[in-house]
Amino acid sequence: MAAVPMDDPGRTPSSYWAATAAAGPDIPPFDGSERADIAVIGAGYTGLSAALYLAERGFSVLVLDANEPGWGASGRNNGQVVAALKHEPHEIEERFGKERGGELIRTIGEGPDLVFGLIERYGMPCDARRSGILTAAHSAASLADLQRRVDVWARRGAPLRLMSRSELESQSGTAFYPGGCIDPRGGAINPLGYARGLAAAVLQQGGHIRRQAHVRSIRRAASGWQVMLDSGSVMASRVIVGTNGYTDDLWPGLKRTFLPARTPQIVSRPLRDNLRKSILPVGQIMSDTRYLTVGVRMHADGRLHLGGGGGTAGADRPALYEQLPREARRLFPQLGDIEWEFRWSGFMAMTPDRYPRLFELAPDIAASLGYSGRGICTATIMGRELARWAAGEAAIDELVLPASSFRTLPYYALRGPIVEGTVLFHSLRGRLKTPG
Ligand SMILES: Cc1cc2nc3c(=O)[nH]c(=O)nc-3n(C[C@H](O)[C@H](O)[C@H](O)COP(=O)(O)OP(=O)(O)OC[C@H]3O[C@@H](n4cnc5c(N)ncnc54)[C@H](O)[C@@H]3O)c2cc1C
Repeated sequence: MAAVPMDDPGRTPSSYWAATAAAGPDIPPFDGSERADIAVIGAGYTGLSAALYLAERGFSVLVLDANEPGWGASGRNNGQVVAALKHEPHEIEERFGKERGGELIRTIGEGPDLVFGLIERYGMPCDARRSGILTAAHSAASLADLQRRVDVWARRGAPLRLMSRSELESQSGTAFYPGGCIDPRGGAINPLGYARGLAAAVLQQGGHIRRQAHVRSIRRAASGWQVMLDSGSVMASRVIVGTNGYTDDLWPGLKRTFLPARTPQIVSRPLRDNLRKSILPVGQIMSDTRYLTVGVRMHADGRLHLGGGGGTAGADRPALYEQLPREARRLFPQLGDIEWEFRWSGFMAMTPDRYPRLFELAPDIAASLGYSGRGICTATIMGRELARWAAGEAAIDELVLPASSFRTLPYYALRGPIVEGTVLFHSLRGRLKTPG
């Protein structure tokens, strides 16, 4: 039986991020009834980015989160700031056409500028490093795909570069892959620090945030919408929903538009000097082209961090974390047996085609979700887009991501076996394939 994402304990998990991020601003719990021009549900990147844009422009905006800012995927992810969706630029153009697709590609390509720009503008303490992202190819065919990625982006003026096996090995410390590419636009952050930084910026700009503000439903009212909480309600003329992989029953059917996939993260104790210098010595962050991507980081304090490589739609359990230490030894045989000090997990919202969804749920209420594991830039962008809509600057069909028609997944009830079956299938494939 799959667990409900919102059943995760109400406190932010004791992750490496929670141990190292600066404290967030004081956020009061929701208490009674309130009114705002715009109510935003969810205090992750989507909701906070939307609220920041609106607060900067003088709107009265109130963010409601059942837990606290950064409690969801925004405080639990791998911290890879990537200028990409899960699809290559040519696929995006095929899907959305030259004009809309081209605009989406350009906006996604500028995602790291937006994220690092906000971090700099508001002085968010989140260990931001724009040191580039390495993508390792897991097969000769995927190396050819990376060559195409480099060529397509080059035509759009982005300076990606292909790397030979030996260059990738010297920059990453693993000889496992036949080659890869580097995208200098991307980088690394402490993701919880970024979420808390956004929350602080919202408050600084005059916006409001409430924690322990669980929304049960949203009702049409004489003028606008009445957002119903466990106790009390909020009246607003427009509502933005940014609940992504943690979406519950607040809007009929919304949680059934994607599959929630719980993904693990592990962080080691500080490694000995010779070991830490042998892995990602130039300070980049690395992922690979496998379906079950593994993200690798070396933290400044010498801790190795791996994430991904598996998942479940169910509850957190020890078996979820068994694969990553094996993966670490396979990539970096020099490690031997090391101790893993932190482990935690979080829910991604996976759509069947791995494109995000923008929904106009009803007049004056819209949602963006389904980032499929690529949400630091995309959720920040989509929050801004929803805010432009809520501010009356753009109609829903003028936003950068075309709106989707609202469709629930007919097989949602089978999400447990589907997610676990997909993970098993792709991990066996990964095991059988030896990169050459
Ligand atoms: C393990 C993991 C690793 C990842 N790694 C990366 C990465 O390296 N790079 C990258 O780009 N992306 C990554 N992602 C994806 C990225 O983290 C997410 O796409 C992004 O954080 C989504 O932000 P969000 O604001 O939409 O949702 P979330 O951050 O999940 O926030 C949703 C919020 O909604 C609140 N909520 C839900 N229901 C209600 C309700 N009824 N009432 C009130 N509040 C409610 C929750 O409390 C929660 O705080 C990763 C995700 C995971 C899980």
